[in-house]
Amino acid sequence: MSRDRNPLSDPKRRSAQTQLIHGGTERSQHGETSEAIFMSSGFIYEDSGAAEARFKGEDPGYIYSRFSNPTVEMFQQRMALVEGAEAARGTASGMAAVTTALMAQVRAGDHVVASRALFGGCRFVVEDYLPRWGVESTLVDGRDPENFARAMKPNTKLVFIETPTNPTLELVDIKAVAEIAHVHDAVLVVDNVFATPIWQKPLELGADLVVYSATKHIDGQGRALGGIILGSEDLISGDVHTIIRQTGPSMSPFNAWVMLKGLETLSLRVEQMTRNAAKVADFLADHPKVERLIYPGHASHPQYELAQRQMKAGSTLVSFEVKGGQEKSFAAADALGIILTSNNLGDAKSIISHPATTTHARFTDEVREEAGISRALLRLSVGLEDADDLIADLAYGLDQA
Ligand SMILES: *Cc1c(COP(=O)(O)O)cnc(C)c1O
Repeated sequence: MSRDRNPLSDPKRRSAQTQLIHGGTERSQHGETSEAIFMSSGFIYEDSGAAEARFKGEDPGYIYSRFSNPTVEMFQQRMALVEGAEAARGTASGMAAVTTALMAQVRAGDHVVASRALFGGCRFVVEDYLPRWGVESTLVDGRDPENFARAMKPNTKLVFIETPTNPTLELVDIKAVAEIAHVHDAVLVVDNVFATPIWQKPLELGADLVVYSATKHIDGQGRALGGIILGSEDLISGDVHTIIRQTGPSMSPFNAWVMLKGLETLSLRVEQMTRNAAKVADFLADHPKVERLIYPGHASHPQYELAQRQMKAGSTLVSFEVKGGQEKSFAAADALGIILTSNNLGDAKSIISHPATTTHARFTDEVREEAGISRALLRLSVGLEDADDLIADLAYGLDQA
C-alpha cells in the first residue's frame, strides 16, 4: 500500500499538534474511530507456555492492569510523543506521579533539594514524608539557581522543582538548575502542571523527569484525577516502572480514556485560556483596588525575562492581591457571579481560591509570609468563558471590596 510509504505514517515525523490527536492510538480488530476503553484488570494467555513467556518478558503482551493496560498505554504513548520523552507511566493522580517519581530515585541516607514554593501536597512529601523514611531534604528559595548550588551535598540524589509555582507564580530557571543537578550526578524532576506541555518543555531544558497532574489542564473539564511521569527509557522502564508495578499507584483505564480525549483539545483550550488570562492580567494590573498583580506573561513580573526565555506564553493562572487584606479579598471573591470559588485549576470554568485559608492553611503565618502568600492573595485559574464577561465579573467583585 502506498500509505505505508507516506512519510507521515511514521508517528515520529508528525508535529506535537498532530500527536495530540493521533499519537499512541492502537486500534482493536473492530477499527474503532475513538480510542477503546479496556476495562479489564487482567489478560488471558493462549496456554501456560504463553503465560510463562509473557512473565519472562519474552512476549510483549499485557499481563495485569496494575502495570500495563492498552488504554493507559495509549495515553502514555501520546503524552510521550507530545512531550518529546522516550517513555511515560500514567498514575492515579498528580500526587501519585510526584510521590512515585521521587520515591523511585532515593533511598534512606540520600538527600533531596527542592524549591520551597511547591504545591501543598508536594511540599508535604518532601518536607514531612521523605525525612520519615530517612531521606534528608532541603528547601530553598527557587528564584535564584545559586541557592540550589549551595544546598547540594555529596549524597544529593534528586532536585525537585515546580515552575511557575503555586500560588505565587514564581519561576525557577530550569536550564540553570539542571546544570547544577548534573554536576552532582543528581536527577532533576520538574512538576510542569502550571506551564502545561503547550508552553514549556522541561526535558529540552535539561530535566530528567517531568511530572503532571493530568487532573488539571489535560482533563481540563473537572471530571477525573490522573497523573503521568515522563523521561528517558532508562529511568522510566527501570525504577519508575518497578515501583508502580510493586506498589500500585496505577491509573484506571477509564481515567486514561478521559485524558486521551482531553489531549485532543488541549492546545485549543490552553491557548484560549492563556489569551483570556493575558487580558484579565492587563485589566487587573491597572485596577485601583489591586495591590499587586502576578502573571508571568505580564512585563511587571519580576522574572519576566526568564518567563520569555523558558515559556512560550504566560499560561492560564493569574494571582493578585486586593488592597485591604483578607476581608477585602473575601468580599471581592464572594461577589463574583461567573467565576467559581474552588481549588481546582486548569479547568474550562474559571476558578478563584484564597490560598492562605485553604490550600496553604496548614502553614504558619511565618512560612506563608516567606513564600509570599499573603492574606490578600487570590489565585485565579482563567477558563474558557468570554474574556470580557470575566473582566466585567472581576470589575464588579472588586467594586464590592
Ligand atoms: C494539583 C497539583 C498536583 C497534584 O495533583 P492531583 O491530581 O490533585 O493529585 C501536583 N502539583 C501541582 C503543581 C498541582 O497543581
